[in-house]
Amino acid sequence: MACASLKVVTSPVELRVTASLWARIRSHMLQEDFDEHGGVIFCGRAATNTRTSLLVRDFIAAIDGVDYVPSAVGYRELTASFIRHAALRARREHLVPLFVHGHGEGDSVEFSSTDLNSHARSYPSLIEITDTEVGAVVMTDEAVAGELWLVDGRFVDVDATVVLGHNIKRFTPSRTQVDAASPCQDRQIRLFGHRGQAILAASIVGVVGVGGAGMLVVEYLSRLGVGRIIAIDPDRVEPANVPRLPGSTMRDTRLFFMTNRLPERICRLGQRRPTPKVKIARRLAIQAGQGTIVEMLQFNVATVAATRALKNCDYIVLAADSNTAQNVVNTIGHQYLIPVIQVGVKIGADDQGALTELFAIVRAIRPGEWCLSCSGIIDFAHLALESMPDRERALADYGTGEPAPSVITLNAIGASNVVTRIMLELTGLMEPGAAEQFLIHPSRGTVERRFTSGTATCQICSEENGVVGLGDLRALKLPSPLIADTTVMTRGSSTRSRPGPHLGRKT
Ligand SMILES: [Zn+2]
Ligand SMILES: [Zn+2]
Repeated sequence: MACASLKVVTSPVELRVTASLWARIRSHMLQEDFDEHGGVIFCGRAATNTRTSLLVRDFIAAIDGVDYVPSAVGYRELTASFIRHAALRARREHLVPLFVHGHGEGDSVEFSSTDLNSHARSYPSLIEITDTEVGAVVMTDEAVAGELWLVDGRFVDVDATVVLGHNIKRFTPSRTQVDAASPCQDRQIRLFGHRGQAILAASIVGVVGVGGAGMLVVEYLSRLGVGRIIAIDPDRVEPANVPRLPGSTMRDTRLFFMTNRLPERICRLGQRRPTPKVKIARRLAIQAGQGTIVEMLQFNVATVAATRALKNCDYIVLAADSNTAQNVVNTIGHQYLIPVIQVGVKIGADDQGALTELFAIVRAIRPGEWCLSCSGIIDFAHLALESMPDRERALADYGTGEPAPSVITLNAIGASNVVTRIMLELTGLMEPGAAEQFLIHPSRGTVERRFTSGTATCQICSEENGVVGLGDLRALKLPSPLIADTTVMTRGSSTRSRPGPHLGRKT
């Protein structure tokens, strides 16, 4: 019998699943016969200091009458042979098996006492075969509950199931009450409700690159009342950034030290210490006054600290255009089942200075669907160059060194589309079939849709050959080892930091 003393409370446990796998699970569990059906989910696993994620890799349906049969103690049960096969596969692939069954329809669900007794009876011995954690999931059309048995014989609840469809849907065992939003959020809750506001307040959004576009993303997210922003950027404010960087002032550039007659030593010291961009991000969130916490990581994204923080996110905005940043974020998104949205702006001119292109681009990347690698967006030749030390890269003659044109209004088109999409997806207002990739051409007044699909052989986004849902089972596959850098600034309690080499152009 499942005894209460075996149950432990830990950081939240989340089951995360792609839309396509969820559709398979759901269609087997909720059939038109309204009967009970079963199967097994295989999961990768990821643990951070704030949550444990079970990342769905595969689902095997139990065939009714063959694998799922009438039971002597309950209604139906999985056969010993089905369970044994599942346990052996879990052991072979180091995956966590979760035995799943349906309880029909309803907006709340819990295991029956028969279910709980069978977990307590069989899971400790099953763990000896699998050598991994083992668990169970029970679902209705509107609710999901779960139990995860740890290798030490104790168990924890699965608190939520996150489905990465066109909306990011969160299922819990029952519908919880939400607190009323602040009256100052009245106008926006008229769009997405108190529940929508509560979802935003509970969300963690990573922003990789807080330059011209990323800083606007931070501004919009914090005005919307997103709970936590993880801002990642190694750079400090330069005078040429200020026209495009909300929240920054010329004082942040320490230009003062270049223009005033001060002892040379003080001038040099001052010029070295312009404000880090991540600090401006925090300033913006404080000014917005909606309670958003900004975690400041003044690092290159290819560092241990930055990648660790990104694994905690519910959503990642990619607002840095280096190939390294694209590669790191693309990989983390698929491996840890975190949706990614990329924002970019392109202004091109020919040799005579005539405008050739002018657009903002938005790319929504759903884990397991398509990626920046197989669609040819990441330039792997440049990726290799970017991981070289500065001097070698200069010798390899990378780029012209000319800064690209950049204007705040174009950044705002991209940033506002990106944050609008995050808001709509999290609060359940996106419509199915929306473009994953589109370009907005302000000089033509048009929006151009681009069609994207992943390749079955992709080493990143393919469910069979890629890293989808592997989580901590696989070291992040990156072009060079992560830069070990453990200095983190949080809420202004900054310490000396050592940013990695600057990568790519500034936006
Ligand atoms: Zn049951
Ligand atoms: Zn791919």
